[in-house]
Amino acid sequence: MEGLMMHRPLRIADILAHTAQIFPDEGIVSRRTEGDIHRQSYPETAVRVAKLAHALRALGVRPGDRVATLAWNGYRHFELYYAISGIGAVCHTINPRLSAEQMGYIVTHAGDSLLFFDTTFLPIIEGLAPQFPESLRYVAMVDEQKHPESRVECLNYEALLAGQPAHFDWPEFDETTAAALCYTSGTTGNPKGTLYSHRSTVLHALCTAISLPKVLREGSRILPVVPLFHVNAWGLPYSAPLTGASLVMPGPGLDGPSLFSLMDSERVYSAWGVPTVWLGLQREIEAQGRLPEGFGHLVVGGSAAPRAMIEGFETRGVDVCHAWGMTEMSPIGTIGNLPPRLADRPLAEKLDVKQKQGRRAFGVDMKLVGEDGAELPQDGKATGELFVRGNTIAAGYYDNAEASAEAIDAEGWFGTGDIARITPDGVLSITDRTKDLIKSGGEWISSIDMENVVMGHPQVTNCAAIAVPHEKWGERPMLVVVPKGEAPEPQALRDLLAPHFASWQLPDDILFVEELPLTATGKVSKLTLRRQYAAGR
Ligand code: ADP
Repeated sequence: MEGLMMHRPLRIADILAHTAQIFPDEGIVSRRTEGDIHRQSYPETAVRVAKLAHALRALGVRPGDRVATLAWNGYRHFELYYAISGIGAVCHTINPRLSAEQMGYIVTHAGDSLLFFDTTFLPIIEGLAPQFPESLRYVAMVDEQKHPESRVECLNYEALLAGQPAHFDWPEFDETTAAALCYTSGTTGNPKGTLYSHRSTVLHALCTAISLPKVLREGSRILPVVPLFHVNAWGLPYSAPLTGASLVMPGPGLDGPSLFSLMDSERVYSAWGVPTVWLGLQREIEAQGRLPEGFGHLVVGGSAAPRAMIEGFETRGVDVCHAWGMTEMSPIGTIGNLPPRLADRPLAEKLDVKQKQGRRAFGVDMKLVGEDGAELPQDGKATGELFVRGNTIAAGYYDNAEASAEAIDAEGWFGTGDIARITPDGVLSITDRTKDLIKSGGEWISSIDMENVVMGHPQVTNCAAIAVPHEKWGERPMLVVVPKGEAPEPQALRDLLAPHFASWQLPDDILFVEELPLTATGKVSKLTLRRQYAAGR
């Protein structure tokens, strides 16, 4: 028997319409490329989104068209998220840190018709325009009086909005309609596009919100350092307004001092981003000897947060929460909230849990698969490749049948390429990525576990454990370390590792460098390091 309830399609536009009515005191604060701080309530944002939707229609954007953005975190980028998807078109966010070749590939592959950009990226546009399709039109996201001189003809964002009606009747369409497109950074091969739907996006916002009620709530002030140009800023452009939280957008200022001053003046409660960014903030906190005013919560993901980093924030009173996920998962898969029963436990015990990646969000099913393809138990011991399934997970890649077929197994599960363990009570630990694994004499060595221990040394700022080819053992671990001031003795690092690893797992070579290479998403690029040291140092 069918249930007898109404069926309304889940639409992204309804999030902002709801928010504008219910949470009129909340909104978006942005540090702009123009240099100032800009404030806008959600009701004001909804009006500008309506105007932008009219402007897009006037420019000829039709349902299903791809409209690209190349922009920092700011209110205009947020408006594009809503206006483009609201009219049934697809918001294609481009990561400006991709190589020119990759950017040329994805704009052509996506078939973008319009490209909105922050003026910081004008040199990229001017350089790549000859490679982009001739039909592509450009819009500079800047005040009219600051519209840039350019070799490429571009429209002006504010001029497009001026004079447009303040109300838009959002069209009805099926909730499975595509809303947004994001390509993986594609360290090897061409980037692959994840095509989110209205349904997956709204469900992801709801599921994240119920996983983080401490932060995603009315009046909370959240700083997404995680970019809107990649992985939907972990869904914050949807989950924050949905729950009545305000967003503080950092624009291009992502170094420790810039983040500290913005968080301090805007009383940011919760900040979200990858570990490398928080190393910078941590240095600034140490330099100032205090936390930014109001700061109490940190969400770290994108790569494993080192235990020492979590401890550093926790001892200053910041509640650190790990999150794990990927572009293909909208992106959040797990959230590392501490269960209340552990709230009064000693810090070391809490850190044991917090350094794991957390428990799955509602609707994300998980299985572990061994090398022989058999499913492994979730007993906290067995380690295998993690597969996921659910309403917020990619069923394939945009216009790429080959990659789609490779990604999904015979039972419809998506292979994450992560190696993990899961405890019986559902806590996930990522021990490696399949591409980053170190296999010595046929046995695995966890690079993440090794990095965690080494990061605990007071003279270490950052480090990466990588595999280097070895004639006899296949691969051996090598440790690349960024020292804090004077480099520690290599033997001191080996001694630190010794209680946690078998002697054959200890790195043969420990190398000190000034900095580690980063990927387009701000993570340590082990691929670059492996290539660099493939033939030894
Ligand atoms: P990329 O950075 O390659 O473009 P994603 O942002 O989708 O792509 O990265 C997803 C990957 O990042 C995951 O498969 C996992 O390896 C890693 N990752 C994400 N969050 C965490 C975390 N909290 N701990 C460890 N690894 C993580």
